[in-house]
Amino acid sequence: MSQPTPATAAPDTVKPSNFLRQIIEHDLAAGTYAQRRWAGSPGDAAHHAAGQPDPAKIRTRFPPEPNGYLHIGHAKSICLNFGLARDFGGVCHLRFDDTNPEKEDLEYVTSIKDSVKWLGFDWNGSATAAPYQASDYFDFMYRAAEHLIEAGFAYVDEQTADQMRVNRGDFSKPGVNSPFRARTPAENLARFREMRDHQHEDGSMVLRAKIDMASPNINLRDPAIYRIRRATHHNTGDKWCIYPMYTFAHPIEDALEQITHSICTLEFEDQRPFYDWLLARLIDGGLLSAPAPHQYEFARLNLTYVVTSKRKLAQLVYDHKVTGWDDPRMPTIVGLRRRGYTPEAMHLFTDRIGVTKSDSWIDYSTLEGCLREDLETRAHRGMAVLNPVKLVLTNWDEVMGAGHLEACTQPALPHPAEGVAPPPDRHFTIGKEVWIDREDFEEVPPKGYKRLFPGNKVRLKGGYVIECTGATRDADGVITEVLATVVPDTKSGTPGSDLVKVKAAITWVGVANGVDAEVRLYDRLFSDAQPDAGGKDFIECLNPNSLKVITAMVEPSLAAAAPGQQFQFERHGYFVADRVDHVTGSKPVFNLAVGLKDSWGK
Ligand code: ATP
Ligand code: MG
Repeated sequence: MSQPTPATAAPDTVKPSNFLRQIIEHDLAAGTYAQRRWAGSPGDAAHHAAGQPDPAKIRTRFPPEPNGYLHIGHAKSICLNFGLARDFGGVCHLRFDDTNPEKEDLEYVTSIKDSVKWLGFDWNGSATAAPYQASDYFDFMYRAAEHLIEAGFAYVDEQTADQMRVNRGDFSKPGVNSPFRARTPAENLARFREMRDHQHEDGSMVLRAKIDMASPNINLRDPAIYRIRRATHHNTGDKWCIYPMYTFAHPIEDALEQITHSICTLEFEDQRPFYDWLLARLIDGGLLSAPAPHQYEFARLNLTYVVTSKRKLAQLVYDHKVTGWDDPRMPTIVGLRRRGYTPEAMHLFTDRIGVTKSDSWIDYSTLEGCLREDLETRAHRGMAVLNPVKLVLTNWDEVMGAGHLEACTQPALPHPAEGVAPPPDRHFTIGKEVWIDREDFEEVPPKGYKRLFPGNKVRLKGGYVIECTGATRDADGVITEVLATVVPDTKSGTPGSDLVKVKAAITWVGVANGVDAEVRLYDRLFSDAQPDAGGKDFIECLNPNSLKVITAMVEPSLAAAAPGQQFQFERHGYFVADRVDHVTGSKPVFNLAVGLKDSWGK
């Protein structure tokens, strides 16, 4: 069964299929999850049995650990999980996977919620819902553990960690049964309750599932499911001194939330047999409702010139290699946002890279291309001079009148997308003196050079045709002013203005109304395409030239930009207004988002 598409949908808005969409289409056609019930909140079998038939056709989830800021890899997972739920009449849960009692920060929780919202999604079925928290399920998890013990599927092991590791065996050697494996359920239950009741030291024993120490899948060789850890949990405080292991907690979290399709990255593939083993036993025991959620694995995003591991990103922050989680060079969602990325560009990117079952590397330029494509039709244009030198129009006073400033206008958006009303024009003035880029003048022009050199005419974009007459230099030979004359009656947009032919138009900013701006020219954070591959020290791969700060001259329309607003600086690239840094000054600040063309490596 294919997904019905609205009759009005343009062909390019139809999502390309992928193996997950095909699975879901198949499940919907087969009615695999049609009998599920939903009681309005997560819960066990009895809870959901008392509920309604689930109005959500599928349930997916995005389960971050709130121990850092989300990165571009998480963005892929968010777009995938929330996107599938949206497209198939389902719901995607935001669940904080907080079963680890390690220090968690409200800062991370807040920023994760912000990032999901920024990407255009809300969770748990409503914009106002609270995200789910895995730690709310500790009571059930404990009950599930006791059930396994009573049913003979779990035992308390008092071997040391070293003994356990040795006895687990390896790929070529089967494991050896623990001497504690043959304890009776009653003995195990008593022991487990002692663990719970603070009667044993951290690390002195663990609860293990009793499966098969000779299994070719090492994850099935009696995995640990509960450990003793005296740590205060941000949600449950000191209630527990035993905490579930991730591999035990995660399937239970999915089942309590009636997740249908539990989508994770490939490294969890070997965990799937345990996921299924555990849920089958808890369903058999009547604790959880059937059908069980099913785990599917997809290839994580590997992006060149980037690291995507919260731990490594945290190291960059805490070692001050960057200015913070939202440094515009960071691949975090907050960093990308400050770099000028839009939610639309992120969606385009995740659609374009697709979902596969085998690992590969995506080139960073693919991401940049998506931003360029999105901003092309939306970012307002503006002129900025990044490396300014003054150009003096020596005949201006004579031809135009002493001190005259001529008003000019240019469209903010020359080619708005279809159906989009063009924004108001930009206004600026031209006078005797304007700023131009140093690179736009050559005393002795190289072959093919079409811009300013003595005797050549160019157009000042949106202004007049001018003819270059030379330049003045200081004692060191550095050009201090470029000299030219204005050609009367050539103002852009006036009749006959194009009678004087020129081969180039250059961008400029009037000295009378140009504004100083701080421009941050960002480059890739790493100079190595795979900074953390093959045992490399990613810190050694940092690009020493990833930031250059300059003072540019910008036209007045840009000076009024609100932080977060993107522009195309004509001929230069896309830039985004940043918050003004009151420490270094009060000039408007712009971050380079992406150049106009892919110039990396050329
Ligand atoms: P990290 O190593 O950066 O901490 P993680 O996988 O441990 O990543 P979680 O917070 O546990 O981080 O991840 C939440 C979800 O995001 C998981 O479902 C995980 O599969 C997914 N995810 C994390 N990194 C990537 C990636 N690079 N590509 C796609 N999905 C990812
Ligand atoms: Mg993790």
